[in-house]
Amino acid sequence: MWGIIATWTMSKEGIEKAEEILKMSGDSGDAIEKAIKEVEDFEYYKSVGYGGLPNEEGEVELDAGYMDGDTLQIGAIGAIRDFSNPITIARRLSKEKVNNVLVGEGAIQYAYQNGFQRKNMLTSRAKIHYHNRLKEMKELELKPYSGHDTVGMVCLDELHKVVAATSTSGLFMKKKGRIGDSPIVGSGFYADSQIGGATATGLGEDLMKGCISYEIVSLMEKGLSPQEACEEAVNQLDTKLKQRKGQSGDISVVAMNKKGEWGAASNIEGFSFVVANACHKPTVYIVKRKNGKCIHELASQEWLDEYMRKRMEPIYKK
Ligand code: ASP
Repeated sequence: MWGIIATWTMSKEGIEKAEEILKMSGDSGDAIEKAIKEVEDFEYYKSVGYGGLPNEEGEVELDAGYMDGDTLQIGAIGAIRDFSNPITIARRLSKEKVNNVLVGEGAIQYAYQNGFQRKNMLTSRAKIHYHNRLKEMKELELKPYSGHDTVGMVCLDELHKVVAATSTSGLFMKKKGRIGDSPIVGSGFYADSQIGGATATGLGEDLMKGCISYEIVSLMEKGLSPQEACEEAVNQLDTKLKQRKGQSGDISVVAMNKKGEWGAASNIEGFSFVVANACHKPTVYIVKRKNGKCIHELASQEWLDEYMRKRMEPIYKK
C-alpha cells in the first residue's frame, strides 16, 4: 500500500506527479520531493517557493523541512534567500550527520557550496502584492499577517517508509529572520515509519506551542486513527490557547499512518487538502466543522475552478 496526503488544493498537481512515482513502487522521499517542488515552482501560489510573498523588507525568505521516518533523520532550512527549491536543500541536509538545520546566511552558504540552483524568487506579481499591502497598511491600519498557506505532505511507500515534509514563504510581511513551525521538527512535520506522519499549516507561532505534528503521531501510537488523532490534537490546542491567551490562530493538519489511513482537521472553515493512494486517485476535500467534529467534503469542479481563477487573476498596482 502507498499513500500521500497534503495540505491545500495547490498540492494537487504535485500529488499527481508523486502518484506516478509511488504506483511504480518508487521511494516516498523521491515522491514527496517531486510533489513539493511542483508547488514551489508554480509562481501563482504566493505562499511557497517562487512567487512566495516577501517579508517586511521586500525579500522572499523561505523555510522547508524534511523527515525520514525510517531513520528519523531530519533536515531543515530557515529564512533562505535566492534558491529555487528549499525542499531539495532540506532533504539533502537530512543526510548529514550533524548540522541538519541551517538558517539565514549559513543556509545560503551551504546551498551555494553544494551547487544548488540559485534563482531570484521575488516575482513581479509578488512585488505588486507587497506594494499594495504597504499602501493598504498606511491607509487602513491593516494587520500585515495574512496570505499564508504552507505546503505540508506525508507520504508512505510500498516499502513502508513514511516521510513528512514542508515548504513555505511563511507569513506575508513577517520580520526578517522570522521562522514559523514549518522548518521545526515536531511542530511543522513529523514522521516515524513504525507509526505514521503528520504535518501542519496555520499560524506558526501558535502551532509551535503544541508541537502539533509530534502530538498527532504520538496519539496515533497510542492507538487513535489518523482522523481521531488530528481532531484531538487540533481541539486540544485550540481550547488551550483560547483558555490561556483568549484566542487561537489558524490550526490545520493532515496525517497518515503506516497502513495508509489518513485524517485531516482544522479549527477554521475552508481548509482544503489532497489525498491519494492505490485505490483513491488524487482528490481534493474541504474540511467542514459540524458540532465540534471535522467532516471532509469533496471539492466540486466549480470550487476547484474558482480556486485557480482567484490565484491567477490579474493584479494591479494600487
Ligand atoms: N505555518 C506557516 C508559518 O507560520 C504558515 C502557514 O502554514 O501558512 O510560517
